Amino acid sequence: MRRIILILAIFLMPLGVFAAMVAADRIFGAPGRGYDYVVTVDLPDEGSQIGLPKIEGPMDASRPLVVIDAGHGGKDPGAGTGRLKEKDLTLALALALRDELLRGGGVRVALTRSDDRYILLPDRSSIARRLGADLFISIHADSTEAANGASGATVYTLSAKGSNEAANRIAARENSVDVVNGIRIVDQSDAVSAILVDLSQRETQAKSEEFGSLILREGKGRLPFRETTPQSAAFAVLKSPDLPSVLFESGYINNDADIERLNSPAGKQTFAGVLAAAIRAFFARHSLATASG
Ligand code: ZN
Repeated sequence: MRRIILILAIFLMPLGVFAAMVAADRIFGAPGRGYDYVVTVDLPDEGSQIGLPKIEGPMDASRPLVVIDAGHGGKDPGAGTGRLKEKDLTLALALALRDELLRGGGVRVALTRSDDRYILLPDRSSIARRLGADLFISIHADSTEAANGASGATVYTLSAKGSNEAANRIAARENSVDVVNGIRIVDQSDAVSAILVDLSQRETQAKSEEFGSLILREGKGRLPFRETTPQSAAFAVLKSPDLPSVLFESGYINNDADIERLNSPAGKQTFAGVLAAAIRAFFARHSLATASG
């Protein structure tokens, strides 16, 4: 009996010491452990991988897969201060494109988000890579403070050196969504430069530009474009070394004509038709068969 009590005491001793330490810390320890204040930021876990969205379309995994990324979402509304927010417009356009691709058949489609949620920029391209996507398109809408009011769509690909100042400014704005209270959550500029020195990026970059040119070709006479060639800048969301990626600024959220076009069922259908045709043309060129049956 005595021995049992002794054994119990030996096992329980560390527990007792720990309890005493916790109690001492509660009584004597400074709040925040020496810091004057504690900042709590509610963010998705950076280390853990977020769940993958479902793939729609043919069950046949040999069919090409395009991942459509509706820009912004959740606590990040994107551009636009009026009744229409960029995050709602990009989601509506992404859904229209998905529906158009599924209607045509032969192509598998996944969305980075199909509702109003916040996703970190690196997670968006990571979702596409983890799904084994063949093509990635991020949909956005821009805004301008210019009095004359810019309008029209622009196609962007990734590069270290932007096409021009305007392209760099737009990339900086689109990249800034992962900055909370002035703190950069993920250092994208480093990641982007690291990717850019990778030789495998060159081939991907050529394919991205090719896909961008196909959007401009398919959209000629159907969509108003601000620039007639693909532009480039350091967009964090496009930094996949092995996945052709394009960012599509669909128009200006504070331009009346653009908004009327993008917000109308006919305008959404034209957008979806042009983008779907470009996606199919890209897959056909790279022998990624889309023919159904
Ligand atoms: Zn945007």
